[in-house]
Amino acid sequence: MPRRLADGRLVVASHNAGKIREISELLAPWPIEIASAGDLGLPEPEETGDSFAANAHLKAAAAADVSGRPALADDSGLAVEALGGAPGIRSARWAGPERDFAAAMARVHEAMGSAPNRQAQFVCALALAWPDGHAEIFEGSVSGSIVWPPRGTRGFGYDPIFVAAGDAATFGEIAPADKHSRSHRADAFRQLVAACLPPVP
Ligand code: IMP
Repeated sequence: MPRRLADGRLVVASHNAGKIREISELLAPWPIEIASAGDLGLPEPEETGDSFAANAHLKAAAAADVSGRPALADDSGLAVEALGGAPGIRSARWAGPERDFAAAMARVHEAMGSAPNRQAQFVCALALAWPDGHAEIFEGSVSGSIVWPPRGTRGFGYDPIFVAAGDAATFGEIAPADKHSRSHRADAFRQLVAACLPPVP
């Protein structure tokens, strides 16, 4: 049986403003008081895992340990088929220390060249960890294709070059509610809700 979140307080173990905003929007229906890792001055652990799940787990566990509260972490990224799954768990690192996603998107475009396979997936692992060391981990994904040039100023990261299967607009162009209806993060979140959150009051 997965452990359920009984505490009304949760640390969102991320320093990424885009992720914190999306997780806060997804959690909005629950009466949960959210603090981010930045609000609490928590350090950003080094992502030494070799999978999205391992990195989500180490970030959530570190935040739960230091804060003494349940913590939710997201590790996510873009896996491009023609690049053998890159940038994958290195998606943030492809943007460099300046977090320059225009440059990261250009790097994806250049690495793909004229490869006929434009397919890609966004993947998201969500880990919910408790201060006693227990954790629950969920993984979600969304399939789509890479487009060039980038389009749209909504979302964050690689959103302007990703079009979900069945859509015409990029994740950078669609409304937040539409992204939440089909994103990798929303997919993982639906599983977390079913396993660990109480029904919406
Ligand atoms: P990390 O999980 O902190 O290692 O960073 C994941 C990186 O993947 C982010 O900085 C973004 O570049 C990218 N990424 C993850 N989720 C999304 C998304 O929903 N849209 C666009 N880019 C994303």
